Amino acid sequence: MPIFACDLHIHSTLSPCGSLEMSPRNIVIRAKAAGLDIIAITDHNMAENCTYAARLGKDNGVLVLSGMELQTSEELHLLAIFGDHEAAMELQEYVYSNLPSVPNNPDYFGDQVVVDEKDVIIRSEERLLLNSTALSINEAVLWIKERGGIVIPSHIDSSAFSIVSQLGYVPPGLPFDALEIEKMEKLETIRPFVMAKDTPLVTFSDAHYLKDIGRRRTLLEMERPSYEGVVEALGHLPTIRGGTPYPC
Ligand SMILES: [Zn+2]
Ligand SMILES: [Zn+2]
Repeated sequence: MPIFACDLHIHSTLSPCGSLEMSPRNIVIRAKAAGLDIIAITDHNMAENCTYAARLGKDNGVLVLSGMELQTSEELHLLAIFGDHEAAMELQEYVYSNLPSVPNNPDYFGDQVVVDEKDVIIRSEERLLLNSTALSINEAVLWIKERGGIVIPSHIDSSAFSIVSQLGYVPPGLPFDALEIEKMEKLETIRPFVMAKDTPLVTFSDAHYLKDIGRRRTLLEMERPSYEGVVEALGHLPTIRGGTPYPC
C-alpha cells in the first residue's frame, strides 16, 4: 500500500499568530517542496482560507483538507478536519456565533486576513480569533462527528491550551480519531494522563511560519490521497497503549 506524508496542522494568515507569509499559495508551494502529500489548514476558530488553498492544492498535486483549530470553553485546542469544505464553513459559522465579540489588536496579536489564490487580501477579520468559544469540548466533538469530521485534540503534551493542561487528562468515551503529540520524547510523561488508551497517535507541524511546514509529519497508508483514506489510515496507526515505535 502506498504511504503518504501528512501535515494536518498548519496555520495561515488568518491566525493572528500566523506569519503574513503564510498565504494559501505559499503554504501549498512550501508543502510540495517539503514532500508533503496531504495537508490541512487549521486556523484558530476559522476555516475560510481553506477555500483558496484547496484550489491551489489541486493544481500542485497536494491534497488540501479544510480544517480548523477550535478553542473550546475549557480553553483547549481541538483539530477539526473535514472531507468537504462546506462542512468546515458551517463549523466556522457555528463557532463564530459562539466567539466573544472582542476586537483584535493587530499590533499585539497580529493580523487576521483572508488571502486568495493570487495573494490578494480579501478581508481582515476584526474579531479576535485567538479566544475561547462558548462551546464545551463535548458540544464541539459532537457537532464535528455528526458532520463526518475528524477530531484530534491538539498538542496534548503542551503546557497550555491542551486537553491535558486544561482537563488534567484525556477522558475516555469521546470519539477522538487521534491524539496529536508535539514532542514524542514526552510520550512516557503524558501516557499516564491518557485514559483513552486505544486512540492513535499523530504528530504534525503546527506551523506558523513557512520554514516549519512539514517539520513534523505522520505517514499514512492508503491507495491514493483522499479524506476517506486519511480517516481509515488513522484507525490503523499505533495507539498510545502499546508504546510501539512512532510511524515516521
Ligand atoms: Zn494549538
Ligand atoms: Zn495550532
